Amino acid sequence: MTLTVQPHRESVGLKPGRLYLGGEWVAASDTWTHRHPATGEVIGEFASATKSDVDTAVAAARTAFGTWSTARAGTRVTLLHRYAELLREHAEELRALQALDNSVPVSFTSGIYAMSVAAAADVFDHHAGWVDKLGGQTLPPYQGGDHLAMTFREPIGVVAAILPWNAPFLLFAQKVAPALAAGCTVVVKPSEYATFTVLRMVELLAEAGLPAGVVNVVTGPGDPVGEALITHAGVDKVSFTGSRAVGKRIVEASAGTLKRVSLELGGKSPALVFADAPNVGLAAATVVGAVTLGLSGQACVANTRALVHRDVYDEFLAAAQGVASAVTYGDPFDPGVLACPLVNERQLDRVLGYIERGRGEGRLVMGGQRLGGDLAAGFFVGPTIFADVENSATIAQEEIFGPVLAVIPFEDEDEAVAIANDTEYGLGASVFTAGAQRAFRVSRRLRAGTIGINGFQIEPHLPFGGFNQSGLGREGGASSIEAFTELKSVLMPLTEEMM
Ligand code: NAD
Repeated sequence: MTLTVQPHRESVGLKPGRLYLGGEWVAASDTWTHRHPATGEVIGEFASATKSDVDTAVAAARTAFGTWSTARAGTRVTLLHRYAELLREHAEELRALQALDNSVPVSFTSGIYAMSVAAAADVFDHHAGWVDKLGGQTLPPYQGGDHLAMTFREPIGVVAAILPWNAPFLLFAQKVAPALAAGCTVVVKPSEYATFTVLRMVELLAEAGLPAGVVNVVTGPGDPVGEALITHAGVDKVSFTGSRAVGKRIVEASAGTLKRVSLELGGKSPALVFADAPNVGLAAATVVGAVTLGLSGQACVANTRALVHRDVYDEFLAAAQGVASAVTYGDPFDPGVLACPLVNERQLDRVLGYIERGRGEGRLVMGGQRLGGDLAAGFFVGPTIFADVENSATIAQEEIFGPVLAVIPFEDEDEAVAIANDTEYGLGASVFTAGAQRAFRVSRRLRAGTIGINGFQIEPHLPFGGFNQSGLGREGGASSIEAFTELKSVLMPLTEEMM
């Protein structure tokens, strides 16, 4: 039977996508046609913004900055909490929209915390708590005498929030919530592969009572829409999550006006499985799950390199294949479907290209093919495992962004840490061991932004970001407040005399 998602499209009542500029929903002269990655069906059309639309969005954000940055703290707190509640109320609808956008199964967006609407709502609640705590310091005068030295935290200004397609709930929240809490105004640019989800999230912001112009949305392809934002003189900060290549382009483009830049980029994260792992089968399930379930390895922190001690290597490989063979594909609305296709044809070709290369670099023990039959119209690739890979291999060094695991044996802890750190990236890592001392010792030695011990989790109040070329700066918790504010020093004499 041919796979179709059309009935879901009807039941969600999908509207044509428009731009949101200064509180108005506006059609654009050009449009983008979105095709579903699992079926190839046309899902809908949304606006592709012009440079002039981007100018309007930035101008609206600039105007709104005056009032939003000075708004009563209580107004911002109430709004952020009200929005968190609205997100929770609309969770099912948002999961459905995401499944229509990027085909991430509802089983995953309802079952995995970091991918859930609940996590995005928690991020808004968390940042509501920061609004009235954006304090500075009062310091004793350095040179003695009678004056006050103080610091203030000020909102950075107009923020361009540029999003990838793979986790729109959390990543929209990680940028918009702290920006609003800090008093910034925002122009959001969703990925062209997750636009309908983000448009609805913005519509709910308006329903929550957000004043016109505080958040604006420009949709369409990275070039020209994202380009117009990152080169715009009216944008004070670019907060970007996406690929390393675009991240580098943003750093170049920011030089013109020395924009502030935060970059959350890709990874080639290692999982280190020691011989004393509490349960090698469970470790294999966790590692393979991260590379296959839900996003089919299209996750920045997916542990795509499994470094496994030789004593448990065969056991790990056997368990990994068992878990991978249970992954199911198909209609993302079917609760029994566990993984998505690759997001587009370009990504399909890229992943198949890496797999071809991998055949000469390691021992293919599973997968390696595009899936056919009922799934032939989609961009599905099954779980793919290469064993006996050298860490210098292309498939162990480059971010493939697909369901491809490179398994690499090691002899001892020093070798495992050296292999783990031998990468241009540094986003995440996980350590599987029963020894608490080893767990902490190895965690300290790993050059990565987030480490999971016997698993991997992301929490809204913790900083998240990368070492090396996995990014610049951190998002999450207090780090987000720093990322969306500038520090100002103020000095004042306490007498009538000049300082
Ligand atoms: P991408 O870089 O292709 O696109 C990301 C966004 O940038 C999209 O909105 C796109 O339209 C826009 N864009 C493209 N070219 C642009 C340009 N010249 N100027 C401005 N904007 C431009 O990434 P993607 O395929 O959407 O997402 C996958 C990548 O994102 C992977 O590398 C993944 O590791 C990374 N990612 C990182 C994190 C993290 O938190 N570190 C989270 C999710 C995804």
